[in-house]
Amino acid sequence: MSFTKLGLSAPILTAVSEQGYDTPTPIQEKAIPAIIEGRDIMAAAQTGTGKTAGFTLPLLERLSKGQKAGPNQARALILAPTRELAAQVAESVELYSKNLPLTSTVVFGGVKINPQMMRLRKGVDVLVATPGRLIDLMGQGAVKFKNLEVLVLDEADRMLDMGFIHDIKRILKTLPAKRQNLMFSATFSDDIRQLAKGLIHNPVEVSVESNKAAKTIEHWIHPVDKTKKPALLTHLIEKNNWRQVLVFTRTKHGANRLVKQLDKSKIEAAAIHGNKSQSARTKALAGFKSGEIRILVATDIVARGLDIDQLPQVVNYDLPNVSEDYVHRIGRTGRAGASGEAISLVTAEDIKELSDIERLTQKLLRREIVEGFEPINKVPETTLNMKPIKAKKPKKPNRSGNNQGEQKAKRSHGDKAPQGTKKRSSGHKAQSKKNTDNKSGSQDVWKNSTKKHK
Ligand code: AMP
Repeated sequence: MSFTKLGLSAPILTAVSEQGYDTPTPIQEKAIPAIIEGRDIMAAAQTGTGKTAGFTLPLLERLSKGQKAGPNQARALILAPTRELAAQVAESVELYSKNLPLTSTVVFGGVKINPQMMRLRKGVDVLVATPGRLIDLMGQGAVKFKNLEVLVLDEADRMLDMGFIHDIKRILKTLPAKRQNLMFSATFSDDIRQLAKGLIHNPVEVSVESNKAAKTIEHWIHPVDKTKKPALLTHLIEKNNWRQVLVFTRTKHGANRLVKQLDKSKIEAAAIHGNKSQSARTKALAGFKSGEIRILVATDIVARGLDIDQLPQVVNYDLPNVSEDYVHRIGRTGRAGASGEAISLVTAEDIKELSDIERLTQKLLRREIVEGFEPINKVPETTLNMKPIKAKKPKKPNRSGNNQGEQKAKRSHGDKAPQGTKKRSSGHKAQSKKNTDNKSGSQDVWKNSTKKHK
């Protein structure tokens, strides 16, 4: 299958080939023709599958045919859970639309609101937003959706995990009833299905295998005692001369502590999590991408969706509480066919998490004890003789009838919504003021500007 068979026009195909893509990924193959046709989509897919191009390319194809946006109007709205993901999606939109006379912009919290309001004045074809800042902007009359044609919910499960459901409902109320809806989620919980029920009509369902690690990723564990973990990580970085490693911790506090420990060993490291200011997050990510920072220590919520080219190494300093996050984490490496390595430091206390991961991936992880770090508390042996954990498959909305009261316990990630994109509350105005006052200089890194009409 080639991109030319999917119904995309020449300006988009040129932009795609300039990216060096010759074959559409499975999600692109299924989603692109259906979206061009105007169908609603419900897709089980996560970062690394090519989903961003999967919805952006046909979206641009559709928008290239219609009327331009009026002042303060947006024709397509893409909602994303984190600022990093919103910025990345906006970059893709800009890239793929470079040969089209379409405009796009991104808005998120933690940076000044005024420049965002200015950019929205003339109207935009594609608006990428995090929910909290979008509500601020809507409250100030900076953006209206009378002419909205397409709504995209990207990483819908993560948006619900982060407590954005009320914001999403508020936004949905302001959208015209006649529109196309595209929903992307790594998992389909009852909450997600409930949300989809009132939103998506007769969707094309797309599911991309998500509970298996890519074949190009080699992953194994180092059993170790808890107290030896910082020393083992330093040892591995130095012995293997790792230059760019994404390290996952379970908590924000744990991430900060680890950065301090690495600093003491003169290893350049920075933390990225929801308690960091936007400018600190932007600086850390930019430094990591450019190679100035060797080790980026992240928690799950912020790290999910980060697309770092050719990332060779991922370390699970702590195993995740939720086994599906293991697949997301190690999927940061070995992308688009490149090879990658992911190692996990595992202590005797982590036996349940380890066993859950092995049952989900249906693979017993290879154990490698590092000389000098032999654990006193041995990690018990595990087997696969238990029922495998299945990742949830998407189900048709409406089919499940009334599942109110079946609200599933929220997944615990040890990380809250990032500052400025939190669940709205009575302190909302104060938060907006704080964002307005934020003197962050992150715009240049995020290309936080509207793409000009050509
Ligand atoms: P995503 O799942 O949208 O985060 O995309 C993951 C990565 O795959 C990004 O770095 C994209 O640039 C890349 N990508 C997307 N589509 C293709 C394709 N058809 N061929 C090769 N790489 C792709």
